[in-house]
Amino acid sequence: MTQLYDNWSRLLAEIVTPEGRVDYLRLAERREILDRVIADFAAISPDAMPAAFTGEEDHLAYWLNAYNAFTLHAIMDEYPITSVWKTRDGQFFQRRRHLAGGRAVSLDDIEHAILRSRFAEPRIHFAINCGSNGCPPIRPAAFQAEGLRDTLRTATQQFLASEWNCRIDYATRRIYVSRIFKMYAEDFAGVSGTSAEYRLGVLRFVAEHTGVAFTCIADFEVVYNTYDWGLNDSRRVPRLGPILFHESVEHFAEADGGLRELYLYEGNFCNRTCAWCTINGSPKGTYHPYRGAVLDQAVATVAADGNLKFYGGEPTLHADDVIDAIGYVRRRGFSGLISIYSNGVKAAALIRILESDPRSEAVLNYSIYHGRDAEPLADHAKAQLENWAAAHPGRLFQGYKVLFHAGSGTAMAYDRDREAGYHGIATGCVRCFPVLTTAGKFRACPFAAEIDSPHYDLGRVGSDPGQVFENYRHFRKWADDTLDPAARARGVSSCEMCHQHLAELPVPDYAR
Ligand code: SF4
Ligand code: SF4
Repeated sequence: MTQLYDNWSRLLAEIVTPEGRVDYLRLAERREILDRVIADFAAISPDAMPAAFTGEEDHLAYWLNAYNAFTLHAIMDEYPITSVWKTRDGQFFQRRRHLAGGRAVSLDDIEHAILRSRFAEPRIHFAINCGSNGCPPIRPAAFQAEGLRDTLRTATQQFLASEWNCRIDYATRRIYVSRIFKMYAEDFAGVSGTSAEYRLGVLRFVAEHTGVAFTCIADFEVVYNTYDWGLNDSRRVPRLGPILFHESVEHFAEADGGLRELYLYEGNFCNRTCAWCTINGSPKGTYHPYRGAVLDQAVATVAADGNLKFYGGEPTLHADDVIDAIGYVRRRGFSGLISIYSNGVKAAALIRILESDPRSEAVLNYSIYHGRDAEPLADHAKAQLENWAAAHPGRLFQGYKVLFHAGSGTAMAYDRDREAGYHGIATGCVRCFPVLTTAGKFRACPFAAEIDSPHYDLGRVGSDPGQVFENYRHFRKWADDTLDPAARARGVSSCEMCHQHLAELPVPDYAR
């Protein structure tokens, strides 16, 4: 089968740069070869001609090569574009436009129904390339069956050698890894049960492919970096800002026995009034100070080594209260991570909060930080935060850019952010961890903290933490069985359903 890939290897050698990026202008000049490659894959596949693909490696090599070739072909149909999310129909991964051995397939079909389903090989994620900067470098030659596992091991090692994909911070005992490890967590954790197993699965995999002893990092936190969806175009340098994004550290897993993460909500009093704010924050908002009983309940409800997230409203407007509250939960035995969600306008106050506790981090509002769809941060505040972030790596991050698809932003159209759909925000409920408000109520969702409805009522101060967790489980099931289907039937996002059509939904059992 090696001759099947001759054209493909020849093309790759011409268009892939030493950094594993793609020279798309050159590829446009070689379009005729690309078309021949695509015709080669259309004519034959392991499914259509099994006798020609004798071993598992033959099958695997074919589908890895086909995925990468089809990706380039789909991009060339739209080029110039700046991201695979900017294609005309927004169906880059879903449209069955590629022929493999005569059968129409989509990129999603190849990745999920074929590569991930048929081969127990997590290293496929470091071999397939979807045309984005966050992907592994594209190989400058076709994958061949012979020695394929060694090739995959080398590709994985190369991927993890980049600090954008794997950085071990021994001082803070954290590992920052590519979001690929979160998107496909089950592929790295084997038979998954708890969120602890997912974490250990990632750590084992990283240890095995970096040469770092697993025992040295076994108790490190795993933090997921942003996925850069910018096109891997050799003529465009990726923009990597000084303040990085990270995903939540904690996750819900079915076998968990309690909450790994809990939001603390002080009200919606804020020095900004963002039109799309999930909780309608404004200077006219409310503020309920932190009380001992609420903080005791929080410590009793979240895992001691989990994650407490302070948000609002704007926490820096009550910086001393937040500092006192952090000190309080520490004295009560909470040893995990503290996250502060802030708009960064009061940069000095935010830094003061962070400096009060070494196990704390802050997450800035994406739109305000970048000045997109919001008044930007003042230059002096931005500079102050960026300087502090540079001196304190891993403590200050930017938030998630598609969150305005939740909350009151649900009714707004943001055409450029189709990736919100990919991350589930524009489609289904994102199932965040619950909230404990400083007024003393557990709510099922941080984006619904201001919706005073029994649908989100998980308990209150004094409730048994086990019962709160059980109620949260039922909430997730309600989101699966009732909320998401109702939203689909109505043709709106699930967040829009919550914010505008909640009365149409039956109240879940736990809240009756
Ligand atoms: S999004 Fe943040 S900064 Fe904007 S109004 Fe809401 S709480 Fe305030
Ligand atoms: S769908 Fe509702 S519960 Fe889910 S994230 Fe959106 S507002 Fe929250």
